[in-house]
Amino acid sequence: MKIRDILKESKKAFPSLEIVPPMKGITNAELVESVRPFMEFSPKYINVTCHRDEYEFRQEPGGTFSRHLVRNKVSEVAVCGALMSAYRIDVVPHMICGGSTADEIDSKLSDLKFMGIENIMALRGDCIVGEKRFVPTEGGYRYANELVEAICAFEKGSDIFSIGVGGYPEKHFEAPNIETDIENLKKKVDAGADYIITQMFFDNRVFYDYVDKCRAAGITVPVIPGLKPLTTARQVSLLPESFSIDIPVELTSEIRAAGDNREFVYQIGTDWCIAQCRDLLAHGVPAVHFYTMGKAGNIVRILRECF
Ligand code: FAD
Repeated sequence: MKIRDILKESKKAFPSLEIVPPMKGITNAELVESVRPFMEFSPKYINVTCHRDEYEFRQEPGGTFSRHLVRNKVSEVAVCGALMSAYRIDVVPHMICGGSTADEIDSKLSDLKFMGIENIMALRGDCIVGEKRFVPTEGGYRYANELVEAICAFEKGSDIFSIGVGGYPEKHFEAPNIETDIENLKKKVDAGADYIITQMFFDNRVFYDYVDKCRAAGITVPVIPGLKPLTTARQVSLLPESFSIDIPVELTSEIRAAGDNREFVYQIGTDWCIAQCRDLLAHGVPAVHFYTMGKAGNIVRILRECF
């Protein structure tokens, strides 16, 4: 079923789950088991992230090094296939501009259609490790709005896929200001995106302000908040660095007070996420998206307490 229809028909807010493909070497059965704890909540669909190939340096005889592009993770399409066949569930593979030409994207769309997949999360992707800025692939797409256009135009615009796109309540790190970023977000919606999933945030006021700004800019599609429970004290500095987001002082103080007590830090992160989720639900969000990072324990507790 298309997410656009799920969003239209759903009478109650629901959890939306995102997993990251595991490293190569995992078996199909292991992957399926890793997702089983979420099935208790009958998720309507599962998002599966996609990742650029990475450079690996190999030492050659003679001591020189050669650079190779390698994929260390199972592909998102393979993961989607495994989940569909094990759980008869809808899946949302993520698709990025980076690393593919327009023709290659077209082939990927044909494969997804062949598999009976009706949904795609369309993203630009980040730069490859070792590059400073995102470099579009020659013959590919520079911005996510171009990818959305291509997906909509696939098979002469016969509406095969419902499309989600990313939004940044605290602004995308490359955008000069939030207003420009929202103008660019609108380009994705005008190109045919059906809904927006946000980057993680830890202060709900930031999300509510963002939705107000989106509405004022003429964006009318559903905006689904993205949450990630903090799990370790290190994430207090890692998450802002990786995702260009703020962590509220109240949360950092609690984490600092927990000191070396890892279990307590984990509990603080989970409790904070539960409070965020309850407040979002009370504010009438259509769904709450969880960045599970493949870890079920904390997410299962949050879902039990909130849904
Ligand atoms: P875009 O919408 O293209 O925006 C990128 C930047 O360019 C922004 O600063 C924007 O303001 C600007 N911009 C956009 N359009 C234009 C335009 N037409 N003209 C000028 N400027 C423009 N990454 C992965 O690699 N794999 C994933 O699976 C993945 N999943 C994600 C899921 C979610 C919900 C989110 C929020 C992000 C995800 N990302 C993923 C990260 C994402 O790829 C990066 O944040 C990336 O840097 C931007 O992607 P985007 O689609 O938002 O880009």
